[in-house]
Amino acid sequence: MVAALIVLVILVSTNTWNPFPGIWEWVSASQPLASPNVSWQQRLGSGPQTVTFAGNAVVVEHRTSVEARGVSSGTQLWEKDKDWVAVAGEGLDSVVVVGELLTKGYEVLDPLTGAVRRSDKQAVAVWTYRNALLDVRCGDAKDCQLSAWDPRGSSPMWTVDLPGIGFVLFADNPDLLDAKPLTARRIEGSAGGPVLMPSLLGFSVDGKVRVVDTAAGRAVQDFEPDRRDRHVVVGGRVIRVQARSADGTCYFTVIASDPALQREVWRHEAVNLRTAEGAGCAQREGPAGGQNVIVGVTADGREAVLDAYDGRVLWLGGHGDKLLAVDDQYALVRPSGGKAVTTYEFGVKRARWSFSTEDPKASVAITRFAAIVAPEGPDRIVALSPANGRTLADLRSSAKVLAVGQTGMIIGGQREIGFVPFSTAAPPASPGSAPHPRTPGSATVRRNPCAVRKSDPDRQSALRVRRGAAAGLGLPLMSSAAAFSYAPLLPTGADLTEYRLVSDEGVDVVNGPGGRRFLTVEPAVLTQLTAEAMHDIAHFLRPAHLAQLRAIIDDPAASPNDRFVALDLLRNANIAAGGVLPMCQDTGTAIVMGKRGRHVLTDGTDEEAIARGVYEAYTRLNLRYSQLAPLTMWEERNTGSNLPAQVEIYAEDPGGQPDAYKFLFMAKGGGSANKSYLYQETKALLNPTRMMQFLDEKLRLIGTSACPPYHLAVVIGGTSAEYALKAAKLASAKYLDGMPTEGSMLAHGFRDTELEAEILELTRQFGIGAQFGGRYFCHDVRVIRLPRHGASCPVAIAVSCSADRQALAKVTPSGVWLERLETDPARFLPEVTDAHLETEEVVRIDLNRPMDDIRAELAKYPVKTRLSLSGPLVVARDIAHAKIAERLDAGEPMPAYLRDHAVYYAGPAKTPEGYASGSFGPTTAGRMDAYVARFQAAGGSHVMLAKGNRSRGVTESCHQHGGFYLGSIGGPAARLAQDCIKHVEVIEYPSSAWRPSGRSRSKTSPPSSSWTTRATTSSPR
Ligand code: SF4
Repeated sequence: MVAALIVLVILVSTNTWNPFPGIWEWVSASQPLASPNVSWQQRLGSGPQTVTFAGNAVVVEHRTSVEARGVSSGTQLWEKDKDWVAVAGEGLDSVVVVGELLTKGYEVLDPLTGAVRRSDKQAVAVWTYRNALLDVRCGDAKDCQLSAWDPRGSSPMWTVDLPGIGFVLFADNPDLLDAKPLTARRIEGSAGGPVLMPSLLGFSVDGKVRVVDTAAGRAVQDFEPDRRDRHVVVGGRVIRVQARSADGTCYFTVIASDPALQREVWRHEAVNLRTAEGAGCAQREGPAGGQNVIVGVTADGREAVLDAYDGRVLWLGGHGDKLLAVDDQYALVRPSGGKAVTTYEFGVKRARWSFSTEDPKASVAITRFAAIVAPEGPDRIVALSPANGRTLADLRSSAKVLAVGQTGMIIGGQREIGFVPFSTAAPPASPGSAPHPRTPGSATVRRNPCAVRKSDPDRQSALRVRRGAAAGLGLPLMSSAAAFSYAPLLPTGADLTEYRLVSDEGVDVVNGPGGRRFLTVEPAVLTQLTAEAMHDIAHFLRPAHLAQLRAIIDDPAASPNDRFVALDLLRNANIAAGGVLPMCQDTGTAIVMGKRGRHVLTDGTDEEAIARGVYEAYTRLNLRYSQLAPLTMWEERNTGSNLPAQVEIYAEDPGGQPDAYKFLFMAKGGGSANKSYLYQETKALLNPTRMMQFLDEKLRLIGTSACPPYHLAVVIGGTSAEYALKAAKLASAKYLDGMPTEGSMLAHGFRDTELEAEILELTRQFGIGAQFGGRYFCHDVRVIRLPRHGASCPVAIAVSCSADRQALAKVTPSGVWLERLETDPARFLPEVTDAHLETEEVVRIDLNRPMDDIRAELAKYPVKTRLSLSGPLVVARDIAHAKIAERLDAGEPMPAYLRDHAVYYAGPAKTPEGYASGSFGPTTAGRMDAYVARFQAAGGSHVMLAKGNRSRGVTESCHQHGGFYLGSIGGPAARLAQDCIKHVEVIEYPSSAWRPSGRSRSKTSPPSSSWTTRATTSSPR
């Protein structure tokens, strides 16, 4: 009976089986975890095994399930039946990795939604780090591969062979040959969350050791250790501990070697790393330490912390001093006989700060965000700033500290967990001074200082300490000031891009001081990468963009014109992918943004090397030179190379990787660049009704001259006008897709996906469609909300046009990588012909007929009639129009070619060998609006082709003079060049933008184009 009762209690208390849920709930009713109370407290289904912060979520591992809860309220976000969980990545870029015991594979989940980002079915082990995820797959017991992934990546950064795995454990973070952290009874050893991936990792396989260089992604050493020795891989060194018995004593020698050079770099005689605790020299324990430090005891019994990289003694205790916690920067020590925890920063002689406590057994730990001291009798948990000992939280609680994050910590007991936010107004302590011990009740000082009497000693002490801490800057710290916190304005999230390897030459990894590894990049690498990127974006599109075009064709709600445009753009993509004709005639301004990690070394001429790559691409390929050098205020000349490029390099560890150099390459045509808008608004805009009214008005103004369907970006807020515009450009390129979808007090930007959907629907109601009426004015919308000055509210709008030209790239120790764009767009083409799409009659117009006949024919049809044109057209743009206007001013007549032929406002890119024209497409008609009335009055320009809207003046002139404006699809320039243009003659006013290799290059004969084409009309007659 007693045994049965015991079993029942165990089953119930562990939540394995509970026949009396009501009674048990009553027995185990929640008690506050702490006083003052935590900001939230939640009861779990069972006692948590681990708890880890993952961005704005808290991930809890139970015995047979995994759940995530929101940091702000503790409410459950999702739950899954999984056996283990680990967190990789950092902050808002974190991912949750889950799996089942003794089952291969794992899933990478989004922390907030639990959505599966990536799924693996083969891995037998997983390690998670702040900057990487490692997994191992095995073909058989002796043939395994270790792969490193960006936590949010979709393809491995590198893969290394392992001769087996050495253990069969389908779970997370199995033991490696590394130093183990010092432990504390009331603080979870993993409370600090994932660490950075060490530069070297040691795998023990079948009695041998393989050392893997994680920066270079290669194995650098295999060795068979002496069974009497102990090996760990710490701080970029292989550390071998010898323990030899003599005279009844065990003598220790610690030897560190560089595995790449395979030579010894330092050794310490007579330092005991406590690997052979107890009698004898048998080493059964691994040494304690951090990522780059190891802990030992000197021959005279003093504790020491060694730098694993160079063997320096970073801290040497006095006799009786007890090392309680250590990381790569700090040692937390209980001085001999002392009643305090004292913190030393390596490289700083004096103690940083001390915390008074009577409890000699207080649990102590150090994490990135806080040092934790948990004394007993009375039970307390105190979180302190590692740098200065400032109190971040001070609670009376017997709970255990389960996880420590940037904004607070999770404490727990049995099935309860609670969140303790770190104070934003806790009394700071100047370095070296003891923080004032706070009683639980003193939290009221923090929350409402005015409610405390002036004589309150706690408050006065707090004010005194604040002044002391701020004195270093000579500035008073206001009582309302928030604690320092940092978040990037645009947290871009993990890089999910699929890359292709361009080259693995010209990059190398070299050793630097402090065990750091540096990536060296030759300038030629940047030049080659840029040239390759510019080529790719001129000819290939992203698969997602092509899929969106195909979706228009498949959408029964799309208008026939929407589908017609989408099909033409897909065909154009197919032709451009041949690598001869660029997808658009306006091959754009080259824009390159680079983010160079702090461990990337170049010769310093990065911008020049990138500009050279732009030069090589534009001069060797069939691209157009669009850049004009200003010689005087009024005189400009084409540079003949498309230089200068816009190159911006930022010093920033891209994706948290110090040894990576990442890029965004863009080619921005004039049409879409001109559709970037800035509006200086006020807070009055920040309500849903006004915002939608504003956008309804402004988005219509974009019109069709930038060749929709668009990728539309709207940025609301911004620390400056130019920052808002820059963010809009990045958002239109999908560069900010990985941003968080919620704001926070860290004031970072975020994506408002709900507003994105509303705006997309708004644009569908415009009826503008993909150029000629319909739903598809936009493929998609991105809305970014940024912090702002209270007196400003910039709103930036930008589009990426049908030439959606951008590609990401990166240079890492594993090589030079460029985003994989679609080289086979044909797979997106439907199995349909034009006939399937032509639900309306197409009217054929013979341009060889006299102009009056052509106009009479056009006059028979309503706006939106689709036309198919064949015959000669005159091509003329801004300069030709200006010259002709000068001739009219001088009393000369309208040239016959403008009277007799329709005029196409269009231009080509370079003409490839064997073609009549290079990629050729319409330009923005509005630029010629000012000439129309005058030219038509003089008998010319009666039929005009181009893209985009016309002004009221053009409409009125057409009514008065019997003119027509025919809309030509903007974007499919390669298709016009390949399928439509038969012959080109340059007759008058050649420009650097038009250099046909055609039949005539005469500078004196009149310009004309002889061709057959199809075009669509939709504009006012
Ligand atoms: S697709 Fe249109 S807007 Fe885009 S670059 Fe080409 S011509 Fe300009």
